[in-house]
Amino acid sequence: MNTQTAAQLWIGSPHHLEQYTITFLQKLLCSHDGCATCSTCTHISKKQHHQVMWLNPEKNYTTATLEPLFEKIAFANDECSAFFFILQKSDTLSPTCANSLLKSIEEPPKGYHFILLAERLHTILPTIRSRCIVTIHQHNDYIPTTYQELISAFKNETDPHTFLNILMADTPDETESLNIIDHLLAFWTKQYTHSFDITMQKKILLLQQAIKQPPMPGSSKIFWRNLFLHWW
Ligand SMILES: [Zn+2]
Repeated sequence: MNTQTAAQLWIGSPHHLEQYTITFLQKLLCSHDGCATCSTCTHISKKQHHQVMWLNPEKNYTTATLEPLFEKIAFANDECSAFFFILQKSDTLSPTCANSLLKSIEEPPKGYHFILLAERLHTILPTIRSRCIVTIHQHNDYIPTTYQELISAFKNETDPHTFLNILMADTPDETESLNIIDHLLAFWTKQYTHSFDITMQKKILLLQQAIKQPPMPGSSKIFWRNLFLHWW
């Protein structure tokens, strides 16, 4: 294996990415091509392999979360055995945490490899993003859990003030917006077939219209606000 490789940034659902990373490491480190049953593979899947460090903060990264990483990287690695840092939830790296990582990510000391996992690309700090090789793993119709509140505002009557707060906290990008509209369209179409309620029909028409005129880059906040204005 090449002793110096660029950091990887993988985007997708947390569960899928974790499984993918385990399989990826098993393929690399197992001497039977990732058999999934040997002791190496078992240790990897239990996150106990000595060549892998998983970081997964409960909520956000703090300098304390990164401490074990810096302690490890301070020592030169035995070049024969690669060592992997897996940073789950890397979209929760604060600017301070991200800054402390930049140098290591850009030029990892020999034998050290970084794999950053995150649910959404647009929440990754540009300084991190620009130093990584980005791969999108998410399924096309995947909607990050963080948008459940927004979705529910279009399912259960919500006052505009509450809605604006939800929207300001986290706005879906263009692709996510389309996935959410698809999801809402499926939901309301199903409701409609049970009741044939005229107000539901109006919602379906609004959603169909929204698909024809999806948000342009940078305009999804306005897009969602307008849709909500016509909604309840
Ligand atoms: Zn194995």
